[in-house]
Amino acid sequence: MAVPPGHQGDLILRWQGRLPCWDAAAIVTEADAWAEALADRAWMQRALALAAAAAAAGEVPVGALLVRGGEVLGEGYNRPIAAQDPTAHAEVEALRAAARRVGNYRLPGSTLYVTLEPCPMCAGALIQARVARVVFAAPDPRAGAAGSAIDLLGTGRLNHHILYTGGVLAAESAARLRAFFRARRGAGAGIAGPETMAPSLGAGADGPPTLALEPLATSVPPLPVAAAVGEALLRAGQRLAVAESCTGGWLAAVLTAVPGSSRWLERGWVAYSNAAKCADLGVPEGQIAAHGAVSASVAAALAAGARARSGADWAVALTGIAGPDGGTAEKPVGTVFLGLAGPVGVRAERLPLLAGDRQAIRRQAVAAALAALLAALAGG
Ligand SMILES: [Zn+2]
Repeated sequence: MAVPPGHQGDLILRWQGRLPCWDAAAIVTEADAWAEALADRAWMQRALALAAAAAAAGEVPVGALLVRGGEVLGEGYNRPIAAQDPTAHAEVEALRAAARRVGNYRLPGSTLYVTLEPCPMCAGALIQARVARVVFAAPDPRAGAAGSAIDLLGTGRLNHHILYTGGVLAAESAARLRAFFRARRGAGAGIAGPETMAPSLGAGADGPPTLALEPLATSVPPLPVAAAVGEALLRAGQRLAVAESCTGGWLAAVLTAVPGSSRWLERGWVAYSNAAKCADLGVPEGQIAAHGAVSASVAAALAAGARARSGADWAVALTGIAGPDGGTAEKPVGTVFLGLAGPVGVRAERLPLLAGDRQAIRRQAVAAALAALLAALAGG
C-alpha cells in the first residue's frame, strides 16, 4: 500500500483475534472491477433509453453511445428507415456524432455502449475509429461480430484490437427487441412509421433525445457484493450502520437497493461537515484539528461513533477527498480513509490512492467499503 512516509496509514485501535483478510490493494482492485461494472450498467441504461427512442420511431430498438473519461462524446439510435440509409445503425450514428463533436475521425480511449452486439459493418467502423472498448447488452447469434457469428473485434488479424464485454443488461435489451418484433407482427402491415409516432423522450427537432434527467444511479440493479454483505449479516444475525462523508449517502443507497435490506441495515449518516462529524457521531473536535477530517483517526472515530450510536453490530465509515479541488501534497485528490467498527474492534485504513474523476473516486470508495465489510464479516 502506497502511504507517504510520515503519514497515517493503518490505524488499528483495538482488534481482537484474527485480523480479517483485509488487503487494501486487493480491495481497490476489486473496487475498480465493481466500479467498472457499475459504470457499464449505468451507461447501458442510457443506451436502452436511446433504443426506446428508436422503437418509438418505428425502428428496430438499438441505442448506442460513445463515452470517454466519463463524458458522452456522441449518441444515437438505429434509424435506417427514417434516414433512408442502410448504414444508419446506432453505433454509426454515435460514432458520427462523436467524431463531429471532437473534430477527429479517430476516437482512441473511448468506450462504445450498445444494446445489441455490433454487426460486421459496425465492428469495421469501430475499428476504423480506434475505439478502445465495446460493451454490448444482448448477443446477436446470427449477425454479431463480437464473437457470436464472427469475431471481428477481438481478432488479432486486423490493425486494431478492441476489448469487449457482452451481456450487460442483456435481458432488458432482449425483452425490448422481442416486444418490438411482437408488436410489429401484431400490427401486420400497419407498422407505425416515424411520422405517426411522437418521440417519447423529448427529442429536439432533429437531434437525439435529451436524457439529462434519466435517473441513472437509481435504475442500477443491486450490486452482487451489496447483496453478499447483506447475506453475511443475515447469517450472523447482525446489523450494520454506515457513516459517510465523501460518498454522501451513496453507500447507503447501494445497500438499500438490496431487497430485504431492512433486516440487516440499521441506519446511516451523511456526516459531511466537520460539525456533523462531531455532533452526530461524537468525533472529538480536537481529533479533526489534529489530524484533519480526512484521516485514519477520524475514519475510525466515525465508524466507532456510528456503531455506538446505532447499536448496530458493525459500522463502516468513509472520509476522503473526491476532488476536483481540496487536495494537498500530503492528501491529494483520491485520498480516502475507510473505518470499520465491529464486535472485535475498530480499525481504519488509508486506501491506495483512487484514480479518476469525482464520481469515479466516490464509486470506488463505496465499492471498497463493501469489499472491506465482506472481508471483515468473513474473518470475524
Ligand atoms: Zn451495425
